[in-house]
Amino acid sequence: MFQKPRLQPYSYSGSSRLDWDGQSFPCSTLIDIILAEYCLREVVQQQQFLKSKLRVLEKINDNEDQKTQCKDNLRSLLHQLSDKEYDLYRAEKMIPPGPIKNAYHTLRQDPTWFLREELVEDCVQRGGCYSRDCGCCKMRHEGLKMIKGVGHCTPACECCSRNRGFEYSPQKRESLFESFREMLKGDNLIALAQFGEAFCLPPLGEKPCVKAARERLARDEQAREKKSQREAAKGAVVNDTKIMVHEMEIQDESSQGSQRQVGSSKWWKRLFRARD
Ligand SMILES: [Zn+2]
Ligand SMILES: [Zn+2]
Ligand SMILES: [Zn+2]
Repeated sequence: MFQKPRLQPYSYSGSSRLDWDGQSFPCSTLIDIILAEYCLREVVQQQQFLKSKLRVLEKINDNEDQKTQCKDNLRSLLHQLSDKEYDLYRAEKMIPPGPIKNAYHTLRQDPTWFLREELVEDCVQRGGCYSRDCGCCKMRHEGLKMIKGVGHCTPACECCSRNRGFEYSPQKRESLFESFREMLKGDNLIALAQFGEAFCLPPLGEKPCVKAARERLARDEQAREKKSQREAAKGAVVNDTKIMVHEMEIQDESSQGSQRQVGSSKWWKRLFRARD
C-alpha cells in the first residue's frame, strides 16, 4: 500500500521540488523519468504483443498482407524503442548527484525492483495483470537482457487486452498517457511523491511475491512437520505393539508350553507383522 511518502514536496522560487535525506530534487526531473519509463515500457509491451500476433499468423500462414503489416509495425517499433531508451537515459542523467541518485541506481540493480508493494498495488487498482492470476508481471523480467522497460502493465499489455476483449487504439493510449501525466503534475504533488518513492527509494517492506513465496515455504514446512508427527505417532503405536508381542513371548516361555498361550503368541506375531 502507498504509505506516507518519504519524499517531501515543497515549492521554492516558483518551482516544485522534492526532498529526501537532505537532498533536494526538482519535480520536473522525476516526472520526466516516470514518463520516459512508462513510454519505454509501453513500446516493449507493444512489441511483445506484435511478436505474439506474428507467431499466430505464421502458424495460420494464409494472410500474407497481415504478416507484412505486422513485420512493418515491428520494424517501426524498433525505432521507437531506441528513441524511448534514449529519453529514459537522458532523464536519468538529470538526477543530481547525491542520496536519491544512489538509491535510484541501487534499486535498478534488482531486475524485479518494480515488484515492490506500492507498484503491485497500483497495477491491481488499474486492473492490470496483477489483479488476475496470470502472473505476467512476475515473469516479465525473465529471459530478458535489458531490464529497462520491464514493469507493470501498460495499455499495450497483450494479456490485459485479451482479458478486456479489445485493444486500445493509439489515440486512446495517448489519452491515457496524458491523463497519467496530468496526475503526476497535479497541484498537490501527492501522486508524484508516491510514484517518486516507488521509483527512487529503497522499499520499506518485503515485495509481495517474496512474501508470498516465504509464506508458501512456511506452509510447506508446517505440512511436513505435521506429516512427520503423524508418522512418529504411528511408529509409537507399532513400538507399543512390539513391546506387547515381546511380553506375550516371555509369558509363553514361562508358561511351559500351555497350548492356549502358544496360540495367543502366534496371533500377536501375525498382528506385529501386519502392522510393521
Ligand atoms: Zn497477464
Ligand atoms: Zn497486463
Ligand atoms: Zn502488474
